[in-house]
Amino acid sequence: MFQTRQLTGVGRAPGAAVRRQVTVPLRFPDGYASTARVFTFEGLADGREHLALGLGDWRGAATPLVRPHSECLTGDVFGSERCDCGPQLREAVERITESGGFVLYLRQEGRGIGLYAKLDAYALQDGGLDTYEANVALGHGEDERDYTAAAQMLRALGVERVTLLSNNPDKEEQLDQLGVTVVERVPTGVHVSPANVRYLAAKATRSAHTIDLPATR
Ligand SMILES: [Zn+2]
Repeated sequence: MFQTRQLTGVGRAPGAAVRRQVTVPLRFPDGYASTARVFTFEGLADGREHLALGLGDWRGAATPLVRPHSECLTGDVFGSERCDCGPQLREAVERITESGGFVLYLRQEGRGIGLYAKLDAYALQDGGLDTYEANVALGHGEDERDYTAAAQMLRALGVERVTLLSNNPDKEEQLDQLGVTVVERVPTGVHVSPANVRYLAAKATRSAHTIDLPATR
């Protein structure tokens, strides 16, 4: 039987607990539909309102498929083509619905620098910097995302071993250090558009993301 529980000193992440869970039917603009069990939490390290979405047979999956997705207002909500966040989120919901697992929706916009700063970084990118250089030019780290809350949420959900849906080796490394066993990392698809090809190329070359980009002419 599925139980939620509090962390008791396993790993480095402090204890968090499920605060509430509620069912939310989902329908995407392309018509794809699923049903999420949405979890809220108390005791998360950064005090932000992160969500976990249980999809498919999340109760029965031996090693649930887990996608930590960092919030991207422009991509997730408005369909911005400057990044691939919207298509990645859409893909993750479908694949996790099929396998059973969780989307962890993490409120760390713009690789953790915030929404306005992300838009400032876009302006710098229009001047020729890549996505990482722009963050640094604004006085931020190249990537300030922190997966402590993600590890806390998994613990609170009783999940210790995951199959990680990600192209980002940093997520695997951080979760591992936080006491979550990543049994396997499976890549997401590649969602290329004319507007995001430079962004994806920077991710692949600057932070070792495993992304197979088609040759650019
Ligand atoms: Zn995005």
